[in-house]
Amino acid sequence: MQDTTADRTVLRGDCDNCFGLCCVALPFARSADFALDKPAGKACPNLGGDHRCGIHARLRQQGFTGCTVYDCFGAGQKVSQVTFGGQDWRTAASGEHARRMFDVFPVVRQLHELLWYLTEALALPVARPLHADLRRALERTEELTLLPPDELTALDVPAHRQDVNVLLLKTSELARAGIRGRKKERRGADLMGARLKGADLRGANLRGACLIAADLTGADLRGADLIGADLRDTDLTDADLTGAFFLTQPQLNAARGSAGTRLPESVTRPGHWTAGV
Ligand code: SF4
Repeated sequence: MQDTTADRTVLRGDCDNCFGLCCVALPFARSADFALDKPAGKACPNLGGDHRCGIHARLRQQGFTGCTVYDCFGAGQKVSQVTFGGQDWRTAASGEHARRMFDVFPVVRQLHELLWYLTEALALPVARPLHADLRRALERTEELTLLPPDELTALDVPAHRQDVNVLLLKTSELARAGIRGRKKERRGADLMGARLKGADLRGANLRGACLIAADLTGADLRGADLIGADLRDTDLTDADLTGAFFLTQPQLNAARGSAGTRLPESVTRPGHWTAGV
């Protein structure tokens, strides 16, 4: 099997090779994140005929912050170019082609998110005892992404996610065991708006924690497990996330931070952190 996941860049959205799927397939509701309502399967009015966003450089100013947070983990180009062989939904002979494409996209997006986690787990040297199992899970997940459209839409993704999650939990335990000191257990904790400025959260388990608008300025999050943590509006200014794992780009994009925030290598500093918007 071709190893398409060794390079993590294939697990990031590549809009040049996508038919604007996230801007059509997904629904959004008028809110602080989106300036208008849009049902699933209907193209956003800002989407151009070239599948590019007409307001890309002004998304935040025009009330589309949600679009700057989102990433498809590379599912858009996979569905556009592989699953549907480069056949554009706009020029397809029947509307059925478009409908199937829009149904498949969220499924592949979930699988690609799992590929992201598995790839990250395989990059952790302390997870070496699990590498064989992780590699098998990664190959199986990659195989699933290559199924034909009808099989993808019938796939039991939650069951597969559960299998993968068992491995990710074991990976987390191994990774955090290597961090010195007492590790905080905050799995699923409601820490919305919590004042955690300068907190010692080294090796903490923050799986699924709600950290919306929490103050984590200057906090030490080295080696913390952040899988599924809700970081919307979390203030990470000058926090240290070196070695934090299972942190995705969409999570980070939703947070606030600064040039002084230290990040793991797997993610990039969101442009809005330093642009002041
Ligand atoms: S505003 Fe732009 S990025 Fe957001 S959904 Fe519409 S076209 Fe896509």
